[in-house]
Amino acid sequence: MKKLLIASNNQGKIREFKRMLGGFYDEVLSLRDAGIKADVVEDGTTFYENARKKALEISLMADCDVMSDDSGLCVDCLNGGPGVYSARFSGEGATDEKNNALLVEKVSAFPENERTAKYVCDLVLARAGKEILHAEGSCEGIIITEAKGENGFGYDPYFFYPPLDKTFAEIDMDLKNTLSHRAIALEKLCAMLEEGLHE
Ligand code: IMP
Repeated sequence: MKKLLIASNNQGKIREFKRMLGGFYDEVLSLRDAGIKADVVEDGTTFYENARKKALEISLMADCDVMSDDSGLCVDCLNGGPGVYSARFSGEGATDEKNNALLVEKVSAFPENERTAKYVCDLVLARAGKEILHAEGSCEGIIITEAKGENGFGYDPYFFYPPLDKTFAEIDMDLKNTLSHRAIALEKLCAMLEEGLHE
C-alpha cells in the first residue's frame, strides 16, 4: 500500500494535492490524518530550501513518501520581496490585510510597468530523509494598488493576471487551480511521477 503524506493541514491545498496525486498513491494524508505535529522552522532563503527542509524532516517521522510545498510572491521593484517572507511580510501578527496594506504602500512609489511580479511554488517529495523529486512553478502578473475581487486568499486581490485581464481574486478557484504557480509545479511533479521517477 503506497501512502503519501502532505506536509500541511491547509484544507484547500490538501484537496488540490489529493485530486492531482491521488492516482499515484493508494492513500493521501494530511499531517493531522497521520497524527504528526511538526513545527519545522522555515529559515531558508529560497522557497526550495524551505520546502526541502520541511519534506526531509517530516519524512524522518513518517514511514511513507512526504510532499511539502513552499510558495510566495516575488515583486521585481521590491527586489524579489516579500519572497520567502510572504506570509509574515508585515511582521509579528501578520494578516492578509496587513500584508496587502504594506505591499500597496511599498509598490505605490513605482509606476505600473515596474510592478511586475510572480507567484512561485516549490514542491519537494522526500522519503526517509532524502529528496526524491523537486518541481517549481511560477506565474507572472502585475501588482495593482486597488483591490479587485473576493475570491482566493493572500495577495490575490492585488495580483493582476494579464492573460485573463483579471486579478486572481476575480477568477474562480477551479480556474485558478489550473493555472496557478501551485498548479504548474504540481503538473510538473505529476509528469515525473508518471515517468516513475520516484520508484
Ligand atoms: P505558504 O506556502 O502556504 O506558506 O504561503 C506563503 C504565503 O505566500 C501565503 O501566506 C500568501 O501570503 C502567499 N501566497 C502563496 N500562494 C498564494 C496564492 O496563490 N495567492 C495569494 N497568496 C499566496
